[in-house]
Amino acid sequence: MEDEIRAHSEMLLRSNAELERFAYVASHDLQEPLRMVASFTQLLSQRYSGRLDETADRYIGYAVDGAKRMQHLISELLAYSRVNSKELDVNPTDCNAVVSTAVRNLGAAIEESGSAVLWSGLPVLLADPGQLTLLFQNLLANAIKFRRRNESARVEISAEDAGVEWVFSVADNGIGIEPRHAKKIFQIFRRLHSRGEYPGTGIGLSVCEKVVERHGGRIWLDSEPGVGSTFRFALPKIKKEKRG
Ligand code: ADP
Repeated sequence: MEDEIRAHSEMLLRSNAELERFAYVASHDLQEPLRMVASFTQLLSQRYSGRLDETADRYIGYAVDGAKRMQHLISELLAYSRVNSKELDVNPTDCNAVVSTAVRNLGAAIEESGSAVLWSGLPVLLADPGQLTLLFQNLLANAIKFRRRNESARVEISAEDAGVEWVFSVADNGIGIEPRHAKKIFQIFRRLHSRGEYPGTGIGLSVCEKVVERHGGRIWLDSEPGVGSTFRFALPKIKKEKRG
């Protein structure tokens, strides 16, 4: 029985690693041909728009848009597979500085939407600072994107000392999420809205979950539709690196 369980879990680990490798190679190798399609459709649009007929202009527009969307999707997929494949670079990491970097990276979106991000007293943790930046950046980008119509987002980040771990909260005043969707949204490609309503690929939260799990923690959501969403994650004080 034990042998059978061991063989089974080895097989699962192997097929998981193969899938990871497939996602990485496919997204990496697709970049080059896609770059060609994107740049030549953009050239076509620059040189020939207004010189053919209206239908041709429209078709070229669709092709440019599709290629750009695919580039975005592939770069997010690559980021997702890198979270697992790269060795964790664990160092004492000041989460205040990490949030600051994430906010700087999102500068344009924050400014355009008139959003406010507030944080203070976050801890210093043993963690991979690059991965933590990705985590905060994805949560903040969502808080800004899913703000209520005609309102600016207000996001508060805090952390609570829970003994063996730190529990972080990222709370927004946006459109909120129904509790029945609270688990599903962490699955890759899972989205609750059409692309027409809110742009996106459905990869952001699965990256967040991966980062937290690799650091031996867990992530969950408390949300009230129409009031806002609070994403929480717990990170252990003593590093328990996990891959999977
Ligand atoms: P994306 O943002 O590209 O759609 P994510 O994986 O980041 O993908 O999020 C999955 C879905 O979870 C989103 O499409 C949205 O429906 C929901 N969601 C995530 N963050 C928030 C938030 N702060 N407020 C409301 N809904 C959210």
